[in-house]
Amino acid sequence: MIAVIGAGVAGVMAARFLKAAGAEVLLIDRSHIPASGGSGAAGAFVSPKIGKGGPLQELTNEAFAFAHRFYRENFPDAFHADGVLRIPKNEADEAKFRDYEAFNYRPYEVWSREEAERAGLRNVPGGFFFPDAGDADAQAICREIGNGIGLRQMAVERLEARQGSWLLHGSGEVLKAEKVVLATGYECDLLDLRYLGIKGLWGSRGDYATSRKFPISLHRDFSLSSTRNGRVKLGATHVKRPHPCLACDGQPLKELEGKASWITDTSDFRLLETFCGMRSTSRDHFPTVGPIIDVPRMLEEHPSVTRGAKVPLIHHENLVILNGLGGRGFVFAPLMAKWLAQYLLEGTAVDARVHPDRLFYKWVRRLGN
Ligand SMILES: Cc1cc2nc3c(=O)[nH]c(=O)nc-3n(C[C@H](O)[C@H](O)[C@H](O)COP(=O)(O)OP(=O)(O)OC[C@H]3O[C@@H](n4cnc5c(N)ncnc54)[C@H](O)[C@@H]3O)c2cc1C
Repeated sequence: MIAVIGAGVAGVMAARFLKAAGAEVLLIDRSHIPASGGSGAAGAFVSPKIGKGGPLQELTNEAFAFAHRFYRENFPDAFHADGVLRIPKNEADEAKFRDYEAFNYRPYEVWSREEAERAGLRNVPGGFFFPDAGDADAQAICREIGNGIGLRQMAVERLEARQGSWLLHGSGEVLKAEKVVLATGYECDLLDLRYLGIKGLWGSRGDYATSRKFPISLHRDFSLSSTRNGRVKLGATHVKRPHPCLACDGQPLKELEGKASWITDTSDFRLLETFCGMRSTSRDHFPTVGPIIDVPRMLEEHPSVTRGAKVPLIHHENLVILNGLGGRGFVFAPLMAKWLAQYLLEGTAVDARVHPDRLFYKWVRRLGN
């Protein structure tokens, strides 16, 4: 049995791909419902990355191509591909868009100010419109997968390796698993994972009732969704905080409401529900997928590694991670979960761009300084 700890989008997708490949899976979360963490707060926009190219943009767009097909085929009612317009944040950003165009995911359209106005926007110089992009209903997707697999409520407090298996201690019980997938988001305290540099970034989202009919979603330094059933989603994640805020009473949304009202008429927006949560990012902003180094053993058995010695890496047996999905959890999770399942069940090598080992040597050498 494979225990997947964490029922956010990373955990539910891992569980889904593992189960689809024939594995027996136990999905665990400290909450009794899936998506109680960052995943439930997400606007869950699924769009490509713009920029001047490079490995992270390439990987993101590879994951986007996989994700939008995956959601369309498997969750047609919970994925709304109305298209996403990427708008420059300011004049300096607008100038950069010209350099970005050569690296754009295809298909895309270059929208003028007039085209943006026809979509109900003002003070918008235009932007890139990605017709395949859209937004997902984060909770519906995580709930559907979680309910299909079954969710065991347990706050895992400790992991113990025992004769090739793992014992999960927590909530007054002990569970035994042959393999473990750690998908705990910004909370990374079950093992020594310092080398991954996982950090949380806090954000909030508001769902508003409106009579306005926005035909498309948009991203600037905040995101606004198209209208569905008389509702829109407005959100962003920008605040560095060590822990989620528990009672914000919608206050952080005021700034976002101000930004949204600059580019469209929000006068009849009525706040219905607020969500807040943490997203987690690795040190280099790439997802982190695959086996985990046993740091205490490495330091004990090979102390020279802190002085730059190239020694064989020691990994925890039968334990992997899926984390660091950043602000694009719903873009990355399906493809990363597929890669994770292929690694765990078939032994397929993990793509070096997301393999956790990439972060180890640099981190460990700093210990020696
Ligand atoms: C406001 C906001 C807006 C966002 N917008 C978007 C967006 O538009 N598009 C997009 O793609 N992404 C977006 N994101 C990012 C996305 O939400 C994250 O990348 C994604 O949710 C990370 O998923 P996760 O499963 O790794 O973590 P989480 O969703 O945080 O899940 C981790 C789970 O692990 C559980 N857990 C932790 N420790 C334990 C333990 N010891 N025992 C048992 N259970 C445990 C937690 O209860 C939690 O349910 C947004 C995030 C936020 C906060």
